[in-house]
Amino acid sequence: MLAKAVAGEANVPFFSMSGSEFVEMFVGMGASKVRDLFKQAKEKAPCIVFIDEIDAIGKKRDGQVGGNDEREQTLNQLLTEMDGFEGNTGVIILAATNRPESLDPALTRPGRFDRRVPVELPDLKGREEILKVHARKIKVSDDVDFNKVARMVSGASGAELANIVNEAALRAVRDGRSFATQADLEESIEVVIAGYQKKNAILTDQEKWIVSYHEIGHALVAAMQNHSAPVQKITIIPRTSGALGYTMQVEEGNHYLLSQEELENKIATLTGGRAAEELIFHSASTGASNDIEQATKLARSMITRYGMSDSFDMVALETVTNQYLGSDASLACSAETAAEIDRQVVDVVKRQHEKASKILKDNLGKLHELSKFLYEKETITGDEFMEILNR
Ligand code: ZN
Repeated sequence: MLAKAVAGEANVPFFSMSGSEFVEMFVGMGASKVRDLFKQAKEKAPCIVFIDEIDAIGKKRDGQVGGNDEREQTLNQLLTEMDGFEGNTGVIILAATNRPESLDPALTRPGRFDRRVPVELPDLKGREEILKVHARKIKVSDDVDFNKVARMVSGASGAELANIVNEAALRAVRDGRSFATQADLEESIEVVIAGYQKKNAILTDQEKWIVSYHEIGHALVAAMQNHSAPVQKITIIPRTSGALGYTMQVEEGNHYLLSQEELENKIATLTGGRAAEELIFHSASTGASNDIEQATKLARSMITRYGMSDSFDMVALETVTNQYLGSDASLACSAETAAEIDRQVVDVVKRQHEKASKILKDNLGKLHELSKFLYEKETITGDEFMEILNR
């Protein structure tokens, strides 16, 4: 939809193909299909070439012998075509993916796909506007409350909202009415969302509260440690990536060196989400898996790479191999040392987790106030956060 709209705005021809079409073909066809596509595009330039589901061909090459040769040939051909462009051939390539992190780094290098446009799910205001746009195509009764409908579908995509309106219109027709009502819309939500639920995260009310406290937990721990706005934006609108909430951190200026204290604070901030859940709901949820991964990685690096433990001093215990392809680290020490490293990693994380819990307990009132505000607004700015914090 978006790519087509861009082509329409630019008033140029539009070529589109899905990544899966390239690989589902006979052996050797993928690469020649890519060649054909670009040959046509160059003849019709200026134009836009759009590749949907680029991850189907653009996944990271694993370098394994006997891997998916067909896919690799197709990807190599695509890279060759992209490199073959002079600056002025007038062919613009757009691609879409739901899994940007799975793409081969060769694709996202400057000169190839060098700009990323994240298309996030709409927020409350956005959902309301989208519903209104689609409702213009049908007849609705005057008392329809689009804001209320929008509130009920936190996490719905534009396509899902369009479907809700469609479904409401169908309901009205089935009942022999010429316009859709609030009840039609509300009942359609269930039909449409239930169908999508497996694929997308639509939060229940309880989940929304948990995610609100979780995200404010991160932000509050960060703010109480460095006494400045910890975030640019906090949102509990589920991301297309699968994350349920998101706290956008602000990095202060050009900051390449981190002190031990700053690293520890970062770890505390990462544990803040889970700490808040424990404090308020007395239980843990799966929502912290990414935090746990990051906190562990940081704590591990402090000990094995940055020389920040007393017992190991400045001995490199880990070497980073393959810096360009996912940067794997491999241990370079004895089994006993490895076990000691594990113990120390747990120690570091535990200490920071306790620190985060204490910060939240000491600021319980603010935790409640901010979480309620986030729950109601779904997205808040760093300024709003600080305004409430300093009230
Ligand atoms: Zn988190």
